[in-house]
Amino acid sequence: AKKMGHNTYQFFDKDRHTLDPTELTKESALFRAINNNEFELYFQPKFDAQHNQLYGFEALVRWPQEDGSVINPDEFIPLAEQNGAIIPLTQLLMEQLLNQLAQWRKQNISFGNVAINISALHFQQSSLIETLVDNLAKFDVPAHCLELEITESAMMDNPEFAEQQMKRIKSLGVHIALDDFGTGHSSLSYLKRFPIDTLKVDKSFVKDIDKNDQDRNITATIVRLAKYLDINVVAEGVETEEQAYMLHIMGCHFQQGYYYCKPLKAEQVSEFINEKLK
Ligand code: C2E
Ligand code: CA
Ligand code: CA
Ligand code: CA
Repeated sequence: AKKMGHNTYQFFDKDRHTLDPTELTKESALFRAINNNEFELYFQPKFDAQHNQLYGFEALVRWPQEDGSVINPDEFIPLAEQNGAIIPLTQLLMEQLLNQLAQWRKQNISFGNVAINISALHFQQSSLIETLVDNLAKFDVPAHCLELEITESAMMDNPEFAEQQMKRIKSLGVHIALDDFGTGHSSLSYLKRFPIDTLKVDKSFVKDIDKNDQDRNITATIVRLAKYLDINVVAEGVETEEQAYMLHIMGCHFQQGYYYCKPLKAEQVSEFINEKLK
């Protein structure tokens, strides 16, 4: 990946003492990779099963290695969240994402709404707003193309700040999705009060939706709640036709998962849109 801009990195020192030598090696490799801008975004389609069309994408980070293998985010995002590296990393990813969206727009590729994951630590920084404003302007991408996926914890740590931050994000025209919904602690009153556009039903509920009554009832309740509050709902981790059908019956038409498509490299996206969706 090429370097796209000048960034100054600040890393927090908190919890350093908990790192063992392997973790320290991993940490310095992570810092080096950020400085070299080695990270790459993949794109997983979100489908509108009602109209049988593309609804958008979720951008997911990958760390390509020299030997051709790829490290998944579960292996470095928790560390990056712990040492603060998630902030410069996400700033690079935001730049990469908007650069990509600008290219697709030039090529007349209609990609819909593209979501990027924002960690709680980053959501709680006012600098997030500058990063959004700067990159939307730099790449001349309409804000409504962009959605931020945040988790319930980002919202509940400091609800007053979260509400203000969401209002700032919404006033830019950027959408907000609540990720992994149902797995954290959220208050239904905040759901009503905060300007949330989308709920993402966690894949742990979708997994056994066709076998387990409880998972099915929870999912159906989330879908009804979202409809009642006029919030979109996306089911993630849809792997089988049975799951897709059951969700569709419940009225959960926006779906994402291996049943539809795995995360794609940016180069594969245009091919996917032009060929598979014809
Ligand atoms: P997430 O936000 O819940 O993302 C969905 C995860 O489910 C992704 O894993 C995706 O590849 C995977 N997935 C998609 N379809 C299916 C399916 O049908 N079945 C199953 N079992 N899994 C499916 P991935 O890409 O490994 O990302 C893992 C987590 O890492 C994400 O969970 C998110 O919390 C975090 N993450 C990924 N990219 C970023 C990023 O750019 N920034 C931040 N802060 N976190 C990220
Ligand atoms: Ca997500
Ligand atoms: Ca999720
Ligand atoms: Ca997750």
